Amino acid sequence: MECSEIINRLPVFLDSEIAEPEKFLIEEHLKSCFNCQKEAEKLSRVSDILNSVTDVEVSPYFIPRLKRRIKEEEVRQVVRLPFFDWAKRIAVPVGVSALFVIAVFGGNYLGHRLNQRLEKVAELNQEVANVTGSTSFEDFSEGSLVDAYNGLLTEGGK
Ligand SMILES: [Zn+2]
Repeated sequence: MECSEIINRLPVFLDSEIAEPEKFLIEEHLKSCFNCQKEAEKLSRVSDILNSVTDVEVSPYFIPRLKRRIKEEEVRQVVRLPFFDWAKRIAVPVGVSALFVIAVFGGNYLGHRLNQRLEKVAELNQEVANVTGSTSFEDFSEGSLVDAYNGLLTEGGK
């Protein structure tokens, strides 16, 4: 199985709702594939958070807004986000407020990723400056950083 297939099936796999022989295939893949292992860890961490949260105070506008978002999502269905679908599915019985936790968690996660990227760009700048003796790279990295940030924001806004 391809990594993309594995990742699509991970939510079901982690819910222990998956049957043989697919279960076996995924287990075998996870033993040898670091990327999919990472993805599995991430998903099970969110699942733990959802299970531990039963009551979160949210703004009174949060639930109507969320319902509207879910409706929009159902109407569109253009971009398939397996993780979002999965989160919705387990969050409904737990309580809509749990989605709020995902939003917070997702925000932290994106922030972390962005920090890593900023560090990478700083390193790169330093390297280029060492080689060329100038900071002409600065302009380029500035632009790509904005792009990267926008990209992350769009991802996170889903
Ligand atoms: Zn993989």
